[in-house]
Amino acid sequence: MHPLLERQLRKVGLDGGTGASSTQLAALIDAVSRSYRDVDQERYLLERSQDLASREMVELNSALRLSEARMASLLSLSSDWVWEQDLRGRFTFVSDELLLRTGIQPERLLGRSFATDGPLRMEAADLAAVAEAVNERTSFHHVTVEVQGDNDSRYMRISGAPAFEGGTCVGYRGVGSDVTERVHAERTILELARYDTLTGLPNRAMFLDEMTRALAGARRTDREVALLFIDLDRFKHVNDTVGHAAGDAVLAAIATRFRSLVGDTGVLARLGGDEFVVIIDVAGDTRRLDSLAQQIIDAASEPVQFETHRLAVSASVGLAVYPHDGADAHALLRSADTAMYHAKAQGRETFAFFTGELAERSSRQFEIEEDLRIAVRDQHWVLLWQPQVDAESGRWASVEGLIRWQHPHLGLVPPSDFIDIAEEAGLTVPMGRWVIGEACRQYAHWRDDGIVLDHCAVNISLRQLESDSIVDDIAAALDAYGMAPRQLALEVTEALVLRDPARALAVLDRLHQLGVRLVVDDFGTGYSSLGQLKRIPAQTLKLDRIFVSGLPDSADDLAIARAVVAMGQSLGMCVVAEGVENELQRRCLERLGVDHFQGYLFARPMPGDQLTERIRNLSRSPEFTCDSPIG
Ligand code: C2E
Ligand code: MG
Ligand code: MG
Repeated sequence: MHPLLERQLRKVGLDGGTGASSTQLAALIDAVSRSYRDVDQERYLLERSQDLASREMVELNSALRLSEARMASLLSLSSDWVWEQDLRGRFTFVSDELLLRTGIQPERLLGRSFATDGPLRMEAADLAAVAEAVNERTSFHHVTVEVQGDNDSRYMRISGAPAFEGGTCVGYRGVGSDVTERVHAERTILELARYDTLTGLPNRAMFLDEMTRALAGARRTDREVALLFIDLDRFKHVNDTVGHAAGDAVLAAIATRFRSLVGDTGVLARLGGDEFVVIIDVAGDTRRLDSLAQQIIDAASEPVQFETHRLAVSASVGLAVYPHDGADAHALLRSADTAMYHAKAQGRETFAFFTGELAERSSRQFEIEEDLRIAVRDQHWVLLWQPQVDAESGRWASVEGLIRWQHPHLGLVPPSDFIDIAEEAGLTVPMGRWVIGEACRQYAHWRDDGIVLDHCAVNISLRQLESDSIVDDIAAALDAYGMAPRQLALEVTEALVLRDPARALAVLDRLHQLGVRLVVDDFGTGYSSLGQLKRIPAQTLKLDRIFVSGLPDSADDLAIARAVVAMGQSLGMCVVAEGVENELQRRCLERLGVDHFQGYLFARPMPGDQLTERIRNLSRSPEFTCDSPIG
């Protein structure tokens, strides 16, 4: 016999193969189960104990002894304790190992059952599993019991099996092991999975749970719940220019301010990036929402000090109210998000409520997006051309390609109706690739037809500029049509460069090196300084048409136009005025020193072959340079 088992058997008075009473058996189990860790071993012990108990008086024959010896050698590794319960589920015996391994006095358990409130607690699911096993007199495995101490709780993993005496069930007995550390680890993981580590706020997963709960409560009590969707404006700029550590500092500081505003009145969560949400009970007073939204905007606009930088961002807030604006968490979130976009479009740093009109607009946008995908696939595009006229000679020196969407039902759709949606959906990249290819094809066609143009220009979107392929796409298109790079001009808006200057400038530098012309479009509508403009490797500046429209009467427009021309000239750039609609404007711009005009006064955008005709006519009668004046 294994010496360990022999020693333990002797301890409980079972040496020499004599019969054992049930108490002795319990003590045996107690003794052998000291260091029992593995789940299978534990199950094995349970089965053995059940087996032993049901036979009640067992001859420890040699086979059994051998098997016990095997068991004992395994059990020496165990870390469990043993227990017994009566038929009413009350602990009647707890082995000393409980104290040894967990520091819990066995008395804390004796006389108590799992179901009692006292120091023992069990999750409902575990309690139900035990109840079912007891009903059917079968064993149960791995239920977790919380044993509450004075200061903290410990968690036990318990397995048990029915105990029989003379064929009758007398209760349950089993083993328990301390799993406190594991429970704590699991909780930590759960916390990490539900909270945002940077701000300590609930994350998207937890927010959705909270939202679902809040909506269920509102449904029961017939109340309104509001959702505020907060998006920081200019946050990306902080990240890109000062670095991610600065971005993190801004998020953490602003989260703290939001938290003190929301307090216990609602749930604040960070959805990710620079997006936050607040769930709040409307309590019959929507004016409260206005004031909370405004307070949030004010709190966000307070600069954050980071090292030597004073970082300024702002917030746009969209509000949606359950049940009018969405029946579930996802629908409400979508509505609040739509309202937030509307707030941004209103000029940022403001809030907007979701409305039926917005709903209609967003569903229309969705439809447009779907149609646009088809347009991209089937290339339902048309490029119209508008000339740029040399101010001195009146020659049609170059042309700008302007896209139209050839919609199967709506006809020719102007870019103002779809470019933003296409950009948002990432569709301007394939669309722009088509534009570049088509522009090169058309230019080569004119060239081969003897039409002389300095260059043709196309407009480039932010997404396109950010795409990895732009430089290669352009180089390939030029190559395919045998064009020199300087014969292609790319128009980028000032706003686009300002959105992400570092990145935009890096791509623009590569394009400049390739040799294509770069044009700053819509100049004057952004806020670039001379310093910023100097960094853009562009050869041409286009004065935005909103400043042209007020000429020559508006003193402001005149001052701006004069400043833009002076700025461009000081940097050695060619200045183009767009939107020239009448002779007075043309003359005024000519006096200011503008190099080229573009506008309805000369020609509206037209198909390529029409432009061929017009240029041919012009060369026959050079004085014919203008369309009939408009407006
Ligand atoms: P943009 O590049 O500033 O183009 C000039 C816009 O002014 C064109 O509008 C043109 O038709 C219009 N325009 C020209 N002369 C006059 C005038 O005398 N008076 C007035 N009121 N308007 C005039 P369009 O074609 O509707 O294009 C609007 C904008 O859409 C463009 O502004 C450009 O930003 C964008 N866009 C056009 N084609 C493309 C494209 O292929 N790709 C991208 N990403 N954007 C494009
Ligand atoms: Mg343009
Ligand atoms: Mg423009």
